[in-house]
Amino acid sequence: MKAEQTWRAVLGELEMQMSQASFNTWLRDSKLIAFEDNVFVVGVESGFIKDWLQGRMRNTVERTLVGIVGQETEVSFVVWPESDPIGPSSKIVLPDIVEKTSPSLDVSSKRTMTLENFVSGPENLLAHAASQAISEQLNPAQSPLFIYGDVGLGKTHLLSGIKKGCDTKGFQVHMLAAEAFTNELISAIKTGSGSLFRDKYRSCDVLLVDDIQFFLGKKSSVEELVHTIDQIHARNRQIVLASNLSLKSLSGLGRSLCSRIEAGLVVQISKPSTETRKKILRSKASSFSLDLSEDVVSYLAESLQSNVRALEGVINHLSARARLLGQPVSLTAARQATEHVSGHKASSPSMSSEHIIEAVATEFNVTPSELCSKSRARRLTVPRQLAMLLLKDTAGCSLSQIGSLLGGRDHTTARYSCEKARVLLSSDDGFRAKADEVILAINKV
Ligand code: ADP
Ligand code: MG
Repeated sequence: MKAEQTWRAVLGELEMQMSQASFNTWLRDSKLIAFEDNVFVVGVESGFIKDWLQGRMRNTVERTLVGIVGQETEVSFVVWPESDPIGPSSKIVLPDIVEKTSPSLDVSSKRTMTLENFVSGPENLLAHAASQAISEQLNPAQSPLFIYGDVGLGKTHLLSGIKKGCDTKGFQVHMLAAEAFTNELISAIKTGSGSLFRDKYRSCDVLLVDDIQFFLGKKSSVEELVHTIDQIHARNRQIVLASNLSLKSLSGLGRSLCSRIEAGLVVQISKPSTETRKKILRSKASSFSLDLSEDVVSYLAESLQSNVRALEGVINHLSARARLLGQPVSLTAARQATEHVSGHKASSPSMSSEHIIEAVATEFNVTPSELCSKSRARRLTVPRQLAMLLLKDTAGCSLSQIGSLLGGRDHTTARYSCEKARVLLSSDDGFRAKADEVILAINKV
């Protein structure tokens, strides 16, 4: 089994053991970075997540690994920004991955998000075709390519696929999340290396920026991006942008950016139909060498309608289970696995949002209705910011849902509060400890 598949099987197992909220918070976005000296090096997005996993989950993860690999194996967590899924331009240099343990482990750390393994259907056809076209030949006439659609529908997958295709052609490519762009810009300004930053991004052949909804409210990043787009455009090179929000909802980014995006090619990815879901399930199962009967495929496709991540999650479950039990996947097993995935989904956001608000209120000694009130008393604003962040990250609520839940605030206030909470998490130990307790409390149910 490839090391990457092993890690996915571990995630499948852990997803069965933990509550969905907990799994989503701590592990869903983890990536296997390397496998060396019998250690699975796993990348996560922040120091906060890394510390939490290292402190509280390591033993469980290692036990699960032993169950799957059949021998003692260690895990180590490192901070590894999602924006650089393949890693060659990252500052972290990992040694070549050499297989040193079980010969059945293929230790390639290559990400598997390519244009070839992206399953297309009517809902994503145009986005897929446009991505493929760029990876074959840059298309400055339709630059920027702007791909938008809900979470988990394959935007990052397409961007990674374009990156791989263009890398192979020898182009100079940069792919990063909007958040990383902003962070790098801020630190370039602080260290007086702004011109290096500008050169790097303005002079490349292909620039892919993911999750640009993050730029809302970030004036200098937007300005910088506009200049970058102009320079790349003037050199007949390519820009690709992706966002969870449509252009209409991104109007806060300002006319200068939005008009440039409109001048390029705007494509939407929508939720996959049953037929596309079936194709995706078959494709994911075959990447695990997992046999699924048509009955099981139809059942899963009908039961899991939300997004492709859910389909992947269930295939991870089933593949881990089939391997551990040495049994083919029965309809009953499929039913159990989907109950697990969709059961949690069904209970959110209404159930879990209430639960999150209660847990935050308890931890901060205030009442849920105070948290949901319009009052801006200081003792309420900080816990409210945490509640907003948790609602967003663990219950998957939208910013406007969050705003209306917590005192009829608008989505801009909700976004601002989430950002404040993120800053506090990284800078204030006391706040982090409280957040940790709240998350534990949420996950006990
Ligand atoms: P987004 O960036 O839109 O939130 P991702 O690109 O991260 O979504 O996709 C979530 C997961 O689903 C990824 O593991 C991705 O490989 C997979 N996925 C999404 N769409 C497809 C598809 N059409 N074919 C194959 N895998 C897909
Ligand atoms: Mg994404």
